[in-house]
Amino acid sequence: MALRLYNTLSGKIEDFHPLDDNRVRMYACGPTVYDYGHIGNFRTFIAVDLLYRFLRQSGYEVRYVMNITDVDDKIIRNSAHDGVSVQQYTAKYIQAFLEDSATLGIEKPIFVRATEHINAMADFIAELAKKGFAYRTEDGSYYFRIAKFPEYGKLSKKDFAGMNDGARVDVDEYEKDSARDFALWKAPKPGEASWETAIGPGRPGWHIECSVMSMEELGPSFDLHAGGEDLIFPHHENEIAQSESLSGQQFARYWFHARFLLVEGQKMSKSLGNFFTIRDLVLRGHKPSSIRWLLSQVPYRNQLNFTFDGLKSAASSVEKLRNFRFRLTSTQFPAGSTPQIAQLAQETIDKMKSALDDDLNTAEAQAAMFDMLRKVNTVLDAAQAGQNNFRQEDVKPLLGALTKFDEIFGVLNDDDQPKMKAILEWARAEGREKEISPELLGIAGSAQLTDEQVNQKLAEMEAARKTRNFKTSDALRAELTGAGIIVENTKEGVRWRRK
Ligand code: AMP
Ligand code: ZN
Repeated sequence: MALRLYNTLSGKIEDFHPLDDNRVRMYACGPTVYDYGHIGNFRTFIAVDLLYRFLRQSGYEVRYVMNITDVDDKIIRNSAHDGVSVQQYTAKYIQAFLEDSATLGIEKPIFVRATEHINAMADFIAELAKKGFAYRTEDGSYYFRIAKFPEYGKLSKKDFAGMNDGARVDVDEYEKDSARDFALWKAPKPGEASWETAIGPGRPGWHIECSVMSMEELGPSFDLHAGGEDLIFPHHENEIAQSESLSGQQFARYWFHARFLLVEGQKMSKSLGNFFTIRDLVLRGHKPSSIRWLLSQVPYRNQLNFTFDGLKSAASSVEKLRNFRFRLTSTQFPAGSTPQIAQLAQETIDKMKSALDDDLNTAEAQAAMFDMLRKVNTVLDAAQAGQNNFRQEDVKPLLGALTKFDEIFGVLNDDDQPKMKAILEWARAEGREKEISPELLGIAGSAQLTDEQVNQKLAEMEAARKTRNFKTSDALRAELTGAGIIVENTKEGVRWRRK
């Protein structure tokens, strides 16, 4: 069986065939870098990462491009508010996004940045205007003329025929020919960043950014375009309208959309207090591998409900996999092989492949692996009890299946500790010590403290105890223990030594 994917454009599961033999060209809408990315964003990025990894495992050569939206209204507003340039404002969040992606073991796409393609965007808009698909308003903004593109709505399946042109939503946009028309280019506002281009000064609209960058990197017609389900309308609908009007060709052929993530059954929002970044979770002591596992567990088109119970059970699943591998590699078994084991390993590989071929059914692929784990563990338990039913040569095919599995899921390599330590140090540098949990300190552990830092922490601990702030004093004690410092209460007062 070959890969079958749900295509939002056709509304059906289809066989996946790239345009150009075994070369796949894919584009994913990346982050808008005005803040740290949240776990919802990363659900989508991990879904695309799994797809990318599986395409490669299936033998495709993949050119995978992701944009970084480093200019949009929020970024321009926030940077103007802070009195810094757009570049200065976004640098921190671009860095954070790259770090968080690496923390979650996400493979690197080819990154493109909107601010590096502004002139190409202006040229694209000029071309659309020449063909009658775009028009300029008095203030120097440009809009797309939806009436010229009758297929508008084909992705989101919205029916625009009956939409009332008088239903204007944005009073700023009173100059538009039709209320539905969307902005391609926005005239500059006083005090806000803008660019000088062939079509005049201003800034690009969000939708044009992705049309220009994807076509520049992948050509006018490419295989796959991905993003979260919220992007279907208007973002992707508008990308199609712009791109197909310009090129006269089909833009992306397959549209891949990840379903939104909920937290404890609710929409994530700052006001509900259920809004988490990757760093928030690590500060609470959760391992990156648990987060990655949880985000990849539910097939991308199903609702993923993020819960702390789920995160705990994700941690235990990862632990089971790592223990299993350890068990295989740390024991010397009697020479020879058992054909049933090699057969089981091959069956597991086949089941994983057919699960992932089936519209990337990650849950089923993971179930196949755990089925193998259970069966082999039973055999290993018996072997430990003296039965001669597991042989040294059985290890290799099992490790082979684990490797194939991990090429997709990426959790076997235990590098949680250094990653967590990096986030611990980041929290300290950002003055967010209060959020550092004892659990994180325990895992990130061995962070070296100088004598001076130890004395400082002890003083803080004393002060906290005096004000009966035991949560803080316990956290500090755990931090010291984690750093290998032994604290003793003696008659002479508190003393400490290194382990
Ligand atoms: P943004 O940084 O808002 O442009 O979003 C980056 C990506 O994350 C887009 O593909 C969004 O569709 C996706 N996204 C945003 N919120 C969620 C969520 N709660 N669940 C899944 N994906 C999301
Ligand atoms: Zn986009």
